[in-house]
Amino acid sequence: MRVRVFSGVQPSGNLHIGNYLGALKNWAAIQRNYESIFCIVDLHAITVYQNPAELKQKIRETAALFLACGIDPEHSSVIVQSQVPEHAELAWMLTCVTPIGWLERMTQFKAKSAAQETIGDGLLQYPVLMAADILLYQAGIVPVGDDQSQHLELARDIAQRFNSLYGETFVVPETKLPTVGARIMGLDEPDKKMSKSATGANHAVGLLDPIDTARKKIMRATTDSHPAVTWESMGPGVANLIAIYRAFGEVDEPTARQEFEGLRYGDLKKKVAEMVIAKMEPIQARFRELTSDSGYLDGVLQQSFERISPIAKQTVEMVKGRMGLYTK
Ligand code: ATP
Ligand code: MG
Repeated sequence: MRVRVFSGVQPSGNLHIGNYLGALKNWAAIQRNYESIFCIVDLHAITVYQNPAELKQKIRETAALFLACGIDPEHSSVIVQSQVPEHAELAWMLTCVTPIGWLERMTQFKAKSAAQETIGDGLLQYPVLMAADILLYQAGIVPVGDDQSQHLELARDIAQRFNSLYGETFVVPETKLPTVGARIMGLDEPDKKMSKSATGANHAVGLLDPIDTARKKIMRATTDSHPAVTWESMGPGVANLIAIYRAFGEVDEPTARQEFEGLRYGDLKKKVAEMVIAKMEPIQARFRELTSDSGYLDGVLQQSFERISPIAKQTVEMVKGRMGLYTK
């Protein structure tokens, strides 16, 4: 059996360059070496309130962006989580083997729940659903950004605990992080990771931002009190801009150092903006093409669903059998 790759993005807002560099760019790069499944994880998005009309639209927009960023639907499956009932079904079975203390330790739960007046149970259960997403397809490799490493570790723990309680059932997945760009920071607050759900106007460059807006956001990025790049004592804002440049352009560290050492911040930002814009423009052009034909996108989603649905059904049947639940 070919090794499977699984990964997802929440349709919880505007996809940004952090999502691209941490996840989508690598999905596109490795998709042909594996059997790949990429998922719009809408059930994850509703762990914090989403406006229903906007969510509906963001699901389609996210699917189109996957394709615009280079996911090849002839080769990879692009699916919507809520279309496949087995994600939620398996999540319940895994919930029952997951100690609550494992979930309360998660840093994303602590960070996201701190921002809520009432904390929905879904926010705590989030990593169990994520484990179910991955284990449902017996994925061997999960390409994600660094912020998801802890959840991946938990998915491995859940798989191992299930396997030891009920016998070998799940493939224990490996995490695959990009070497550069695994954690892109907010442009306005370089001590926080760039996030779709953050609210600052200059926080993130959206993949679909108008080009002028993208340039302005980069030109306004927080740097530090030095006037120019000093490699040995670089603040987090400057390091972030250089990481963005290196990840987009696949530039190694010595080359970047040669290019940027001693450069004034205004000039650094101009170079970073030009690099980002050069990579964003073709993505936006493909996105416009794809969304001008809504039938095409529906076709891709349906074909993908038909391809993966038997895998999901087979896993849930096996899990039910292992646990002694009712099967025919
Ligand atoms: P939200 O704020 O709604 O959680 P998000 O920006 O964190 O949105 P997710 O949908 O949670 O995006 O994550 C999708 C993928 O993008 C994951 O693989 C995640 O690790 C990656 N990712 C998210 N933010 C970054 C970032 N700042 N740098 C690199 N990768 C990131
Ligand atoms: Mg996130």
